[in-house]
Amino acid sequence: MKPYDGQVAVVTGASSGIGLATARLLLEQGARVAICARGEGRLLEVAAVMRRDHGEGRVLARAVNVLDPAAVGAFAAEVGAEYGRCDLLVNNAGQGRVSTFADTSDADWRAEVDLKLFSQIHPVRAFLPLLKGAQGALVAGNSLLAYQPQPHMVCTSSARAAVQNLLKSLSVELAPEVRVNSVLMGLIGSGQWTRRFAERPDKSVSREDWYADLARRKGIPLGRLGDPAEAAAAIAFLGSRAASYITGAQLEVSGGLSRHI
Ligand code: NDP
Repeated sequence: MKPYDGQVAVVTGASSGIGLATARLLLEQGARVAICARGEGRLLEVAAVMRRDHGEGRVLARAVNVLDPAAVGAFAAEVGAEYGRCDLLVNNAGQGRVSTFADTSDADWRAEVDLKLFSQIHPVRAFLPLLKGAQGALVAGNSLLAYQPQPHMVCTSSARAAVQNLLKSLSVELAPEVRVNSVLMGLIGSGQWTRRFAERPDKSVSREDWYADLARRKGIPLGRLGDPAEAAAAIAFLGSRAASYITGAQLEVSGGLSRHI
């Protein structure tokens, strides 16, 4: 018996990186999945591979921007009609913003707070009836920046802290029907870091050397970036029945990067 046999999991931002690795792992662990991202091309490509590997009826893929409440609502309605339940919602969609206080405009602040908070709020609101019906779980992908802010990512850090605050309230309001937990990511070698690597000033530096130098400069005790599959494992654990008495908690996946106790 696999941990997610008979269950349905929704993963936002599942066409790349951590969300993609999570959807794949949940499929391996027995779930049917519903996945979304804004860009349809890449989403349909990964969905086709998932269907080939795990079966036609186990993957529902829709191009949805989690900041569009009507689109998220329609996605939830489709999941309800197609699968009839939702045991796990993984709120993962998003990206970070690199900017200091000096170079962050009001519009940038608003966009960042909007993205971080409403990428939680819209899916939770839309999937809540299904989650309650299944006595399900929400796992939010968040960042260590929530507790350990970085001045060069000032608005992302602030917005990430607000998300942790929101999740704590939700863990109380939604109990006992729905468990609410988060994973605090350090540096995970996903799409975001691939893009930053592609933009490196010295193009002669190899990927391996660039990542190793990044880990050294950041002082990651385990000496490397995390793999998306390692973040996925933590998400899958918190969403599973193995974590049935865990709510309102956060699990760090940072290679030991945090400095607080
Ligand atoms: P990737 O860029 O690899 O993947 C991001 C995914 O989210 C893509 O599928 C993207 O597809 C989708 N997405 C982005 N915005 C939206 C949106 N508004 N609506 C729906 N889908 C969206 O990044 P990661 O895997 O690294 O990031 C996943 C999450 O983890 C993000 O929230 C990120 O901020 C967070 N995180 C990552 C860290 C890291 O080191 N990698 C560290 C801390 C936090 P599309 O663009 O087509 O919409």
